[in-house]
Amino acid sequence: MARYTGPVCKLCRREGMKLFLKAERCLTPKCAVERRNTPPGQQSVAGARRRRPTEFALQWREKQKARRIYGLLEAQFRRHFEEAERRPGSTGENLLQILESRLDNILYRIGIGGLPAQARPVVRHGPWLVYRRKCQIPSRLVRPEDVVSVAPTARETEMVRTAIESGPQRQIPAWLSFDPSAFSARINALPNRGEIETAVTEQLIVEFYAR
Ligand code: SF4
Repeated sequence: MARYTGPVCKLCRREGMKLFLKAERCLTPKCAVERRNTPPGQQSVAGARRRRPTEFALQWREKQKARRIYGLLEAQFRRHFEEAERRPGSTGENLLQILESRLDNILYRIGIGGLPAQARPVVRHGPWLVYRRKCQIPSRLVRPEDVVSVAPTARETEMVRTAIESGPQRQIPAWLSFDPSAFSARINALPNRGEIETAVTEQLIVEFYAR
C-alpha cells in the first residue's frame, strides 16, 4: 500500500503545530517546530504570516492535518468521511469517532508504536484478536464491547514485546478499559467529542468535503 515517505517534520511545519509524528524526538528541543516554526520554504515567521489564508485554504489545511495525525492517505480518509456522513448525528464527530475506532489507532492508544501509523505493520503482522476472531486489517473498526487482545504470534513482534514489558506508555482514554497483564483492551463505548483529544476543527473538514 502506498504511504507518505517524505520528511515528516516538514508536515508539522506546514500545519504550524506539532503533530507528534516522530515519537520521542517530538518532546525534545530538537523538534523542528520548536526550532523554526515557519512553513517549509519560508525563511521567517514574518514572511510566513504575510498572506491571509482563504476560507478554502483553512478547510483544506484542517483536513490535511487530521489525515496526517492518523497517517491516512486521501482515499482512505475520504472513505471514512463518507461512512461518517451515512451515520446519524454530527458528521464531524462521527468522523473522529471512526478514526479513533480503527484497529491501528486502538493499538496505538494502548501503547503500540509512537504513532497510529507505526501500529499498522504490527496489525498486519499480527494476528490480533477482536472478540477472539483473528484480524490483520488496520482499518477494521471496533465496536462498543469489542475486546482487542494480542494473539500468541503477535507477541513475538519486537514492538509488542517492548510495549508489554514496559507497561502502558501513555494515558489510556476513559472509553477503553485496558488490562496490562493480558494486554487486552475493551471498548466501553465509542468516544464522544469531549473524549477525543485530537486538535482539529472537524467542522472545517465537513465544510471542505461539502464544497
Ligand atoms: Fe513534528 Fe516536532 Fe515531531 Fe518533527 S519532532 S514530527 S516537527 S512534533
